[in-house]
Amino acid sequence: MKSTAIIATAVTAMEIATPIGTKEAVSHFTIRELTYSVTAHRLDIDNTPPPDAVVCMRRLIDKVLEPARRQLGAPIKVNSGYRCKALNRAVGGVERSYHLAGRAADITTGSVAGNRVLWSILHKLPHTELIWEGGGAWIHVAL
Ligand SMILES: [Zn+2]
Repeated sequence: MKSTAIIATAVTAMEIATPIGTKEAVSHFTIRELTYSVTAHRLDIDNTPPPDAVVCMRRLIDKVLEPARRQLGAPIKVNSGYRCKALNRAVGGVERSYHLAGRAADITTGSVAGNRVLWSILHKLPHTELIWEGGGAWIHVAL
């Protein structure tokens, strides 16, 4: 019974690490990338997403992040994706943030000029929120 549990855990870890959107081409984004947080690591916060948040992150990747990446033709870095309540509090996120549901990501091309181009691309893609943040240092997008 113990070995079964270990296998199940390994499969889950693999699933989280595997890029999605494999129907067309390999996606540039992973659930792991949308879940990882330097702050969570530093404060020892368990930011493991519940299954419904994983579903939302997949939608965000498939409908927004990956199409934006393809149109941009350059890497997009995810600064923050899913946040559990403790992490959201730690980073000073708003109480009803879409990050809590796995529906939002803070992303950047690495430059304000690049983010301007990314903004114009995101503007035409499906979204519920699109916010120019930190003077253009990053963009908050939610689906
Ligand atoms: Zn955000």
